[in-house]
This record gives sequence, C-alpha cells and structure tokens, in this order.
Amino acid sequence: PCSGPTKTGARQNQSYKARRAPGRRRSKTKPAAMGTHTSEAEKEMREWCVALPKVELHAHLNGSVRNSTLLELAKELGDKGVIVFEDVKDVIMKNDRSLPECFRLFDLFHILTTDHDTVTRIAKEVVGDFAAENVVYLEIRTTPKNNEAKGMTKRSYMNAVVKGLKSVEDVDVVLFDSNLRNDEKLSCTPMTDLGDDTKRKRIYVRLLLSIDCRETTSAALDTVNLAMEMKDQGVIGIDLSGNPVVGEWETYLPALEHAKELGIPTTIHCGEVPNRKEIQAMLDFCPQRLGHVCCLDDEEWKKLKSSVIPVEICLTSNVMTGGTPSLELHHFADLYNTKHPLSICTDDSGLFSTSLSNEYYLAASTFGLSKTELFRLAQGAVEFVFADDEVKKSLRAVFERAAAERLTS
Ligand SMILES: [Zn+2]
Repeated sequence: PCSGPTKTGARQNQSYKARRAPGRRRSKTKPAAMGTHTSEAEKEMREWCVALPKVELHAHLNGSVRNSTLLELAKELGDKGVIVFEDVKDVIMKNDRSLPECFRLFDLFHILTTDHDTVTRIAKEVVGDFAAENVVYLEIRTTPKNNEAKGMTKRSYMNAVVKGLKSVEDVDVVLFDSNLRNDEKLSCTPMTDLGDDTKRKRIYVRLLLSIDCRETTSAALDTVNLAMEMKDQGVIGIDLSGNPVVGEWETYLPALEHAKELGIPTTIHCGEVPNRKEIQAMLDFCPQRLGHVCCLDDEEWKKLKSSVIPVEICLTSNVMTGGTPSLELHHFADLYNTKHPLSICTDDSGLFSTSLSNEYYLAASTFGLSKTELFRLAQGAVEFVFADDEVKKSLRAVFERAAAERLTS
C-alpha cells in the first residue's frame, strides 16, 4: 500500500531511497525462502544465524503454525466436512505464498483455533520450533477469542494456550518468573552447545494478549482485564493488531489507557498502511514498543526517531504484505544506521515461510551486516523485552557467554 500511486506513497518511496544503507545488496525483490542454499558461504552464514541465541518479540501464535500441522489439521477438517481440503492443500504445501493465499490461510486459522485442544497443540509446537532454532526468549502474542457455540471464552482460550506452553517436553520452558531459582538465574546454554540436539535447550516464554482492531471498546477492555488476571500465568503485555484498514483509534484507546494505568506494557502495530491521524495518535500514546512502522511520512518518521520507541522489524512480512516495496528499500537500514532501538522479528513465521534465523540472515545479506553486528542486534533486543529485570539479567548472561565463546567474529 505504501508504494501505491498516492501522494504519500510517492513521497514515501523517495524517502526510502534516501534511507538506504551502504553495504552489499541483492538485486532481488522477494525475500529468500528458507533452505535455498546457493553457496558454501551462504550455507555457513545461515548455520551461524541458527546457532546465534535470539530474542523474538513479535510473533503471532496462529501465524507461526508449522505447515505439517496445518496440513494435518486441514485434512481432519476436510474429513469432517467443515472445509474442502483440496481448496487449501496446495496453498499449505507451497513456500512462497501470495498475499491472497496468506489471507486464505488466515481464514483456516480462524476455524482451527475455535478448538481448545488444537490451540494447546499449536502453542506447544510453536515454542518447540522457536527453541529449536535457539530462540532463548520468546514473546508470543495472540487474540483471546470468544466463541459461544464452541464453549470458548477468552479465558478458556488463554488457558488452552498456557496448557500448551506447559506441555512442551523436549526443551525447558521458563514461563513464570517465580520459576527462577537462584542457582538457575545465571545458567544458560552456551552457544557452542546450541547446535547440539542432544542437550536440552531453555527458552523463556511470555504472552502478549492482542486486541483485534475489529473489537468493540468493551471487548478490548475485557482483554486488558484478562491480561491483568493472568499475570501469574506468563501474560506480560498487550498488543494492538489486526487488519490495518479496519477500526478506529478512539475505539481501542480506552483499553490501551487502561493497560497503561495498570502498568501493563503495550506494543502497537503501527503504520502498516499510511494513516496520518492514527500514526500520530499511536506515537503520542508512547507505547513500550511499535511494530512495523512501514508507512510513515517524513514528519512522522522524525517523531518516531525522537521518541526512541523500540521498533519490531519484520523484514519478510513487510515485503510480502506490501508495507515496503522491497527488502533493499526496507526502512530497517535507516533505523539501524541512526542507531534507533530495534529488534528483528518474524511476525508470522509459518504464514510467510520464514524463521527468526532466516530474518537475521536476510538482514546480513541485504544490508551487509557482519556477524558481530548481527550478534549485537540480537543481544540488544534483550533490553526491549517486557519480562522483569531478573529475566533480563539471565538473558544478558546468555549473550555474554556466547560472546565469550568467540563466535562473534
Ligand atoms: Zn504482527
């Protein structure tokens, strides 16, 4: 939408050009899908990105479902006659999905997540998948759903998510701060061991409850109150997300303000499409973090930079959904060069066929970042987590140990 023929779009494109970072760039416009190794150097770099300890701050639960699970669940729904399996089969099996195809999968997620057991399974697998690629801290966001016909309330939906997090078996999931014993606080998996599948991995997991911008003020307030109720269940923040052309800021502002009053940190999907009034209001609200910030005009851009609000950068997602015209023209470069606080994230790893390791690889290959720079980026994200200082201390130690392993060169 940013690159469209509108006045804002045209100006925006010029701004993007001015924001390009020096360094090696690829001429392609689509992000590389995972597993397409073309050279030894690329293979080595990809493996290094997998071994790198990483912090994931912007991942939607439903968008992170693995393809094999999606296929299996869609087949079951097909057998029950709920959907026509053949209609979605090809879309699930392909890696490089178009935006309309992504939307078809969203519809499928919507049906799938009306079942508590499925929600539990998805939550369990998503944590396992992030841990497998050495994500050491994960904030998963999800929209609690009411579905009377299925006997689902926002609370029961979230209970199903938490049940999934608790049932992860092959990695140590630290879900509650109270789980941290003194002797555990500094313990971590050294980077050299991270590629070794025989060692147990540890991942800190926290939950953000999303307010969907289609919701009413009262439904949004319910979500914030639920977040407060579930504080001892690993819920630590509120997110605002959904279709960027739907909803009014005034509708969800009371809920966001309520979160602020309760001391619950917020992160907001901002500037996925140009929307001057809304972007200004979001920046004025001063959330703890912002997601995307693709379609900001020059004045908004200035305001963002002076705000120093950390930005969750989702490279592949922004290209796939048209928030940015190409990887090379992504605003990551400008934010990075001006040392704006940012962290690299996936958004929807399943939907967009990516992984956090792949996103780091893309940052390196597109903008010419060195391993040391990638390491510092990953390490820097620790400072933007919503978890408490004890968790931050543990995470800093993870990175210090990894750095000491001299794998940063
Ligand atoms: Zn998102």
